[in-house]
Parts: sequence; structure tokens; C-alpha cells
Amino acid sequence: MFSSIFKSSEPKPPPQNFRGTRPEEPTEPSKEDIGPLPPNIYVAPNAPAYKPAPNWLRMVCISDTHNTTDANNYPIPEADILVHAGDFTKMGTTAQVDQFICWLKSLTHIPIKVVVAGNHEVILDKEFYEQHWHRFHTTKEDYQAAVDKLKSAGHGIIYLNNESYTVDGAKLLHKKYQKQKKQSSTKKMTQPAGADAMDIDTSAVVELRDGWVEGYRIWASPWQPEYWEWAFNEVRGKLKDIWKHIPEDTDILMTHGPPKYHGDIVPEDKELHVGCEELLERLKVVRPLYHVFGHIHQGYGVSEIEWDGGSHSTVCINASTCTERYRPLNQPIIVDLPPK
Ligand code: 5GP
Ligand code: MN
Ligand code: MN
Repeated sequence: MFSSIFKSSEPKPPPQNFRGTRPEEPTEPSKEDIGPLPPNIYVAPNAPAYKPAPNWLRMVCISDTHNTTDANNYPIPEADILVHAGDFTKMGTTAQVDQFICWLKSLTHIPIKVVVAGNHEVILDKEFYEQHWHRFHTTKEDYQAAVDKLKSAGHGIIYLNNESYTVDGAKLLHKKYQKQKKQSSTKKMTQPAGADAMDIDTSAVVELRDGWVEGYRIWASPWQPEYWEWAFNEVRGKLKDIWKHIPEDTDILMTHGPPKYHGDIVPEDKELHVGCEELLERLKVVRPLYHVFGHIHQGYGVSEIEWDGGSHSTVCINASTCTERYRPLNQPIIVDLPPK
């Protein structure tokens, strides 16, 4: 059992109950009905078979799959782009990263898959892993090899770490945003893959050209407020230096954790809102069209923040696939994006 690998003197992990496969008799209900949704947003089984028009972009949002998905047990609907907001592994081993990549590759009906890490992907946080690997793994693994696997996976898999990506039907533009933390910090971000490292199936892109929306900009970050000392944790009150690098023209923001007050309630902890306050502050400036995240499994669902009296809004999507008991029962959330 995973708790046994923690030495008693080490900080304890959050309560967990990992299950390797989807249980045959789930004891928790699947949340297909999550209340009223904004137009063009659906819980997967309720989405119309087709987009409103061919030139719309269908995005499927998932998160926190924790290696519970495989090609057979978790159907993902057809879409133009999939976004995964982190915690794709159980304990961040290279083998678990491999398993996730393998599953992504099996999604041949989705040409682009944008992925960010979460606190469970310990192998992907270099500084953290150097210091804490023994708390998670029996032998030290190769950080660079794991990152390279994600970056060179091909099959339209895009791994982002504090950087952005522009969805474009003809070509995919890739731009890095350096996380410039204070000089005292030793944490560094990883280097992004160059655009030419991406092995996009160009025939699929060309076919999709008429159905693609150009110019939606995604920016993604794995960082979240500290909780039990996991990867990509930062002390509350110090995340401002990360969020200031979210470009102001971001359309789709992906972070592993929620902003304060949106999909961030932990019912077991006195209904506490545990989302990041500084992320909410940055949202008020950037005002992306969509903010996709996970991490707080209990917060699965959609909410909307209205700006300037409702003239525009940010739709917050907590796409946690796994429930609080780490069962993959929550359905993907689908967004149909109009031409920009
Ligand atoms: P994970 O281990 O998958 O990152 O997080 C899973 C669960 O840990 C969440 O669903 C939530 O119950 C708990 N959790 C994560 N971060 C926090 C936090 O900042 N505060 C509290 N109280 N619980 C958290
Ligand atoms: Mn998490
Ligand atoms: Mn999680």
C-alpha cells in the first residue's frame, strides 16, 4: 500500500485510496448531472453528436486520471483537442508516465492532446525530485528521461510547463514563458520542446483544417499551493510570481489546482475553499475564456465568473476524472468553441 513507502518521520500524504482500475460496482455515483451549464458546455454523455458547425473547435477536458484510465475502461469522446490538467499518475514513476502516454496515443480520434503535470508527477519536478525522490520511489529515476518521453511522445501530445501554445489549424505555434521566480528560489522550470519536436500527424491536421479554429491560446502550469509537500508545491502567498507570467491574451488557462472559490471546496475539511487566492487575483486581470483545472477532486463541475456586470466571463471547469476516493467516475467535460 502506498502509505507504507513514507517513513514515519516524513510529512504524511493527503488521504488516498488509489484503485488501479475502474471498479465494477462503484459505490460513488457518477456525476453526470452537475447542474445548469453555460451554452456549448456538456458532460460527455450529454453532448450532441456534432459540433454546432464544422468550423467550431470541440475540446474535451479531463484531469486527475491517476493511471486509472486505459483504452478499454474510459471512453473519451471524439474531439479536436483534449486537455488534461494534471495528476495523470499515481506516484509519478517513469513507468506510470509511460502508461499515460500509451493511453494518450490510443486516443487516435483526438489529434491534439495538451497535458500539464500535477503534484503527483514527482518525477517531472526536477528540484523537488532531487530532494524528495526517496519518499516516493524505491530507486531514483531519471528526471530528464521522463520529461523527454512526454516531449517527444508525438501523436499530437503537447506537454506544457508554465508555457503557452496556440491552437492553429495549419501549424502549431509554441512559445515559452519563463517562470521568473525570485532569485532566492532554487526551483526552475523545464525547457519546452521546440515546435519541430512535435510529431503532429500533418495529414490529420490538413483534413481538419476546415473544422479548426485558429488562434486560441492555451497557457498551462502545474503549480499549486502547498499541501503535504508534493511536487510543484509553493507556499501560499508566494504563487504570485508564477501567475504573473500568464499572458494577458490567454484564452484557455490550464492549471493543476483551482482558483479560490471555484471548484475548490473540500467538504471533509469544514467545507473549506482551498483554491489559490493569488490565482483568482490573476484571473481578474487575464480573464481567460476558460480556466481548466482539477486537483480538488470533490470540486468536479463548472462555474462561471462574470466580469464587468456580465458583458464577458470566465468559465471555470474542474475536470477531475477521479472522485475523492480516486475512482474514475466523473465524465469528461466538453466545450464547443466558436470561431474566434
Ligand atoms: P491529490 O493528492 O490528488 O493531489 O489531491 C487529492 C485530494 O487531496 C483532494 O481531492 C483534496 O481532498 C485533498 N487536497 C488537495 N489539496 C488540498 C489542500 O490544499 N487542502 C485540503 N484541505 N485538501 C487538499
Ligand atoms: Mn493534485
Ligand atoms: Mn489528484
